[in-house]
Amino acid sequence: MKSIYAFEDADSKNRMLLGGKGAGLSEMTRLKLPVPPGFTITTEVCNKYYDNGKKLPKDVMPLVMKNIAKMEKKTNKKWNSIKNPLLVSVRSGAAISMPGMMDTILNLGLNEKTVEGFAEQTKNPRFSWDSYRRFIQLFGKVVFGVDDKKFDYVLDKYKKKQKVKDDSKLNVKSLKKIVSEYKKICEKHTGRKFPDSPNEQLELAIESVFESWMGERAVVYRRQNKVTRDIANGTAVNVVTMVFGNMGDDSATGVVFTRSGANGKKELEGDYLINAQGEDVVAGVRTGKNIEMLKKEMPQSYKELNNACTKLENHFKEVQDIEFTVEQGKFYLLQTRNAKMAAQGYVKTSVDMVKEKLIDKNRSLLRIPAEQLEALLHNTIDEKKAKQFKQLAKGIAASPGAANGIAIFDVKKAMELGESGKKVILIRKETKPEDVPAFYPSQGILTSLGGKTSHAAIVSRGMGKSCIVGCNELKIDEEHNRCKANGIIVKEMDEITIDGTTGTVFIGNVPTVKPKKTKDFETILGWAQKIKKLGIRANADTPNAAKLAREYGAEGIGLCRTERMFNEKDRIKLFVKMIMAKKPEERQEILEKLQKLQKSDFIGILKAMEGYKVTIRLLDPPLHEFLPSSKNKKVLARAKELEEVNPMMGHRGVRLGITSPEIYEMQIKAVFEATAELVKKKINAKPQIMIPQVSSIAELNHIKSIYNNVKSDMEKKYRIKFKINFGTMLEVVRACLTSDELAYTAEFFSFGTNDLTQGVFSFSREDVEGKFLGDYMDKGLVEISPFQSIDKNGVGDLMKIGIERGRSVQKNLEIGICGEHGGDPNSVKFCHAADISYVSASPYRIPTAILAAAQAVIEQKKTKKSKK
Ligand code: PEP
Ligand code: MG
Repeated sequence: MKSIYAFEDADSKNRMLLGGKGAGLSEMTRLKLPVPPGFTITTEVCNKYYDNGKKLPKDVMPLVMKNIAKMEKKTNKKWNSIKNPLLVSVRSGAAISMPGMMDTILNLGLNEKTVEGFAEQTKNPRFSWDSYRRFIQLFGKVVFGVDDKKFDYVLDKYKKKQKVKDDSKLNVKSLKKIVSEYKKICEKHTGRKFPDSPNEQLELAIESVFESWMGERAVVYRRQNKVTRDIANGTAVNVVTMVFGNMGDDSATGVVFTRSGANGKKELEGDYLINAQGEDVVAGVRTGKNIEMLKKEMPQSYKELNNACTKLENHFKEVQDIEFTVEQGKFYLLQTRNAKMAAQGYVKTSVDMVKEKLIDKNRSLLRIPAEQLEALLHNTIDEKKAKQFKQLAKGIAASPGAANGIAIFDVKKAMELGESGKKVILIRKETKPEDVPAFYPSQGILTSLGGKTSHAAIVSRGMGKSCIVGCNELKIDEEHNRCKANGIIVKEMDEITIDGTTGTVFIGNVPTVKPKKTKDFETILGWAQKIKKLGIRANADTPNAAKLAREYGAEGIGLCRTERMFNEKDRIKLFVKMIMAKKPEERQEILEKLQKLQKSDFIGILKAMEGYKVTIRLLDPPLHEFLPSSKNKKVLARAKELEEVNPMMGHRGVRLGITSPEIYEMQIKAVFEATAELVKKKINAKPQIMIPQVSSIAELNHIKSIYNNVKSDMEKKYRIKFKINFGTMLEVVRACLTSDELAYTAEFFSFGTNDLTQGVFSFSREDVEGKFLGDYMDKGLVEISPFQSIDKNGVGDLMKIGIERGRSVQKNLEIGICGEHGGDPNSVKFCHAADISYVSASPYRIPTAILAAAQAVIEQKKTKKSKK
C-alpha cells in the first residue's frame, strides 16, 4: 500500500485509507470536475506516526516532495519560487467528517522571498502580504499553539494606527510590520526562529494535522458521536494547491447543499461570500449571502456550481455538501461529502430519492442515521399560545424544534448549569468547535452571525438540537452577558424560547406542543416495519407513555417498572406507611389500598396496549430508596435499619419478594384483578409478570408458588382461565449461566442489560459515568460507554450463552431485552444478529429502534451476499 496518492491515482472507494475529503477530491478529479491539483497522505501514515512515537516515517517527506513536483508541473508554478510560487493548503480528513474538529493550514509556502513572488504573480502586494500574515497566524496557532488573542491584539493595534475598521483596509506597510510582529510572537513562544523553508513548514504542518486527530476537540467529538476505530481510524492529510476566493470582487467562496439540509427540499441551500476565504464562511465570522444571489452576481459560476451539484448527486446517489471557490472568475470545487442533515431532511430526501428512482428502498433506509429520528418527535412551539409572547428577534432557522430555557452567554457556565439539570439556551455571536461540549447539555443554540452551513448550524442539526443562526438584529455583548434587539434587553438567566423551525426568538417560556408525524416519516417507518424481524416494545410505566409508544409503532411493553407507580405524589406516602408499618394487619390494610391503585394503573396500560403483550415487572429497588430524607425519628430509625453498604447488590428485586412476600403477592393480585376486569369488558389484555434480579431457579420457583396460589384463587373467584405468562429477567450473571435451569419455570426471558453490564464489569452504573468513565475514554481504554451501547465481547457473549442455554430447553423461548440499550442502534443490530425476539426502548426511541432493526436486516443480507 502506498503512503501517498495523487488525487488522480487514488482508489476513491477506500475512504478508510484516504479519509472522506481525500476520497471526494479524488473522485471529483476522476469525474473531470475542476479540482485544484493535490495529493493525500493516507490514514495509515497517521497510525504509523503514532506508533513511531509521533514521528513521520522516514520515506514520507521524500514522497511528499515527489508529489509536490507533480503539482508544479500541473500548475506551472514552482515550490519556493521567488517569481511564481506554488502555495498549498494542508487539510485534515478522516473516514467520516468531523466538521471543524481537526486542523487545517492555508497559504503554506510563503516566506520573506516567496511573498514578493506571490505579489508579482497576483499583481497585488497588499493581497500577498495579507495572505502571509494570515499564514503566520494560522501556523502559529495550529503548529505552535500560540493564543489567537496575541495576534488579534497586534492586528487591532495597526488598525487603530491606520484609523481603519476593516482588516481589508490595512496597507502593505502595516501588513509588513504585522508580519514581523507575528513572527516575533511565534519566536518568543517557541524559542526558535520562525520556519522560512517551505519544506520545513510542510513537514510541521503535516505533523500537526496528525496531532489534531488526538486533540481534545476531536476526541470529545468521536466519543459523543460514537466514532469507533472501525468507523474512522486516524486522519489523512490532503495537500491541495491554493486557490483564492479573496482575490477581489470577482472571487468568492461558499458552501452549498444539493438539497436543503434542514427540511430536505430539492433546492440548493447554502451561503457564499464575495472576496473571502473558505474559513470565513464555515466559521460564520461574516454572514454569508444566500446562494440564490450568486445567480445574479456570478451567473457563469452559478451555472457551473449547479451542474456540478447535479453531477455529484447523481454520481454519489446521495445529497452532497460541497465547498467551492471562485478565483478571479474561475470556478473550483474544494470538497464534496455526503451531507449531514436534520432528521426531517434525511426522511424527506429518502422518500424523494426513491420516487426519483435515484436509490432503492433499502438504500433509503440505510442512509438515515437511526438515532436522529428521535429529533422528529420533539416539541414544537404552541402557535396559539406563542401569540401572547413578545418576539425578540428573527434569525435563520438552522435546526428545527423548539426549546426554552435561561439565556446563557458563557460556554463554561452553559456547561455547568446544563449539566446540573437547568434548561439552558446558549447564546453566542458565533460558535467554534471548542464550544461543542456546551451544546450537549444545552436545550438549544442561538447565534447572531453565520448562515445555514455555519458551525453552529451543522453541529446542532447533527445533534437534533434546535438552533437559530445569523440573528443579526440581536446585538450580543458576551463580555457583559446580555443581548439586545428591538429595544429589549435580555440578561443572563432571563427566560427565552427559540423556534428553530421558523427562526423566531421569544421572550419568556413559550409552551411547546408535541409534533405531528409527517407523511414521509410514516412512509419510512412503514418501509422499515415491513423489513425488520425484531419485535419492538416500549419501556413505559404509565397509560400515557404506553399510548405514545403505540403511536410511534411499539408492539407491546417490554418493561413496566411498577416501582415508578409508587413514586407519584399520592402513592409515595402510602408506600412509606407500608414500609413503616410494624404490625402485619396494619401492613396488610395499606397493601390493599396500594393494590387498588396498581390495579387501576394496570388497567390503563393494558387498555392502551390492547392486543399486545405488556410485561409487568414486580418491585425491584431496595425499600430504603422510598424513604424520604426526614427529621422524623421513626423514619430515620427505619432508614438506618434498612441501610446497606452496597444497595444495588443488596436487598432488592426477588430477594425482597422472598422476605416480604406480601408485596409481590399484592402486585400479582393487582395484575390478575385488572385482567379479570378487562376480560369482562372483552378487552384483549395480555399481561405477563416478570421477576427482577433472579439468580437461581430456587428463587424463581419460590415466587412461582406465590403466583400459582394467586392464580388458582383468582380463577375460582372469577371463573376465568387466565393466561398470564410468568418470566424472569436475565440481569444477574449467574442467571445467564444457568438459564437452562431457569427455562424450566420461566415462560419468557428479558435481558436487563443495565444491571448485567454492572455485574460483568463490576462497574456501579450510578457512579462510574460521572467519575472515571470519561477518563477511560480520554485515554482510549473504552470507546463507548458500555451503559449506552452493548459491550459485545463481554456482556454480549454472556447474553449469547443465556440465549443458547435457555433455548436448549425451550426451543422457541421468547427472549427480549429491556435495558437502555434497547434504543441504541448498534445494540439493536447486535440483538438482531443474536436472534433476540424483541427490543424494548423508551417511547421516544421507538422509531429509532424500528429503523435500526430494519437496517440490521438489510446489512446482514448485504454481508451474506458479499461473502458469497
Ligand atoms: C436493567 O437492569 O437493564 C433493567 C431494565 O432494570 P433497571 O434499569 O430498572 O434496573
Ligand atoms: Mg435492572
